[in-house]
Amino acid sequence: MRTRLPAAAVIACAAVVALSAQNAPREVDLIVTGGTVVTVDAAGRVIENGAVAIDGADIAGVDTAAAIAKQFRGRDTIDASGQVVLPGLINTHTHAPMVLYRGLADDLPLMEWLNNYIFPAESKTVSPEFVRAGTRLAALEMIESGTTTFTDMYYFEEEIARETRTAGLRGVLGQTIIQFPVADAKTPADALARADKFITEFKGDPLITPAVAPHAIYTLDGPTLRAARELSKRHNVPTLIHLAESRDETKVAQERRAASPVAYLEGLGFLGPGVVGAHGVWVSDADIQVLKMHNVGIAHNPESNMKTASGVAPVPAYLRAGVSVGLATDGAASNNDLDMFEAMRFAALLAKNESKDPSTLSARTVLEMATIRGARALGMEARIGSLEAKKRADVITVSVSGARQTPMYDPISHLVYVIHGDDVRTTIVNGKVLMRDRKVLTLDARAVIADARSWAEKVRAAVKQPAPSR
Ligand SMILES: [Zn+2]
Repeated sequence: MRTRLPAAAVIACAAVVALSAQNAPREVDLIVTGGTVVTVDAAGRVIENGAVAIDGADIAGVDTAAAIAKQFRGRDTIDASGQVVLPGLINTHTHAPMVLYRGLADDLPLMEWLNNYIFPAESKTVSPEFVRAGTRLAALEMIESGTTTFTDMYYFEEEIARETRTAGLRGVLGQTIIQFPVADAKTPADALARADKFITEFKGDPLITPAVAPHAIYTLDGPTLRAARELSKRHNVPTLIHLAESRDETKVAQERRAASPVAYLEGLGFLGPGVVGAHGVWVSDADIQVLKMHNVGIAHNPESNMKTASGVAPVPAYLRAGVSVGLATDGAASNNDLDMFEAMRFAALLAKNESKDPSTLSARTVLEMATIRGARALGMEARIGSLEAKKRADVITVSVSGARQTPMYDPISHLVYVIHGDDVRTTIVNGKVLMRDRKVLTLDARAVIADARSWAEKVRAAVKQPAPSR
């Protein structure tokens, strides 16, 4: 005989079941736990013995390890004890395949370096195969050094996009538009058509944000600059341009319109939201106001600017004016690496020395430039740049347990002044683990490096450099 429970007891039982279901930890894909979590959120939360729960492509929660353990159960766990957990770094300006020209020509002024070495080398070696090999090498270096998003301007950008997707990195990738014939376009019209096709192919991709990359005012005429900007507006994608990088560029603008590079572009109707200007060194206070008015983002490249002696971008003035400034390495040919930790350190030291004020660009501000401010400069701050629930899970961990990192009074100070790219242990992009305990999982590191070495032989032959004596 079945015993019938009184209605009140049934309701009570149901409530207990519901309550325990509510209290049961939610199963998620991955929990990174036990490290010091530097969130870079609006409150600047730093959580000792913290954890980040990741489900699918998203961050499910960020809290103390104990609180996360109560709420979530991970199908996989990464123990981050002895490490700092932070948002993946955002490189707002580079040319990924140029890693294959790393160290090819150094110690030269920008225009001489470009016209006598880089442009000739590119005319002889750039091909779809070249950019694929270069992008794999750059992706390997970026994953190993904690960069999770990079902004690129180069040729055959669709090949770069495919390799970026395979490596698992996030990319804002701009097809280059340039006035003279290059490997992937005989004319600017060809380049614009390529860019159009590229954007159509990759728009909506979870990892790739396609963009248009008119190279610079000194390599493009006014009508082509306008056409490139119109194309990106039509597709609502970013416009990437080298802007006010060197003193020579200011002469070009003066000759064309008796204006600064910024004023010249404003006169063309080029400036507006979605434009990211790389460098922004040669700007007046009035130019900075114009950039702010048009909501243009700036990619600051301290190492490249120092190496080519192009000058010092007025970063504190940009920040005071409310311009979004991200951090960048530029191509490895003018850096000569893609280590964003090094870029942070140089950004801080350069600004302090330039202003003769050690309080200029604090470690916190520079860390923000490499994360959330960079995201803002790219218009991606709703998705990336900080560790917060519902953002994409772009997360890295760095070891702070070695001699060089001991003792650690302040993790943010360490991230800027002590940590090297080689200290990165884990790199996660869009919820996928790309590197675990320094083993890159999406690329065959040995094959990538061997392939790059064989390309270097072709580059050396192309520019007829003598082989180094052994
Ligand atoms: Zn550049």
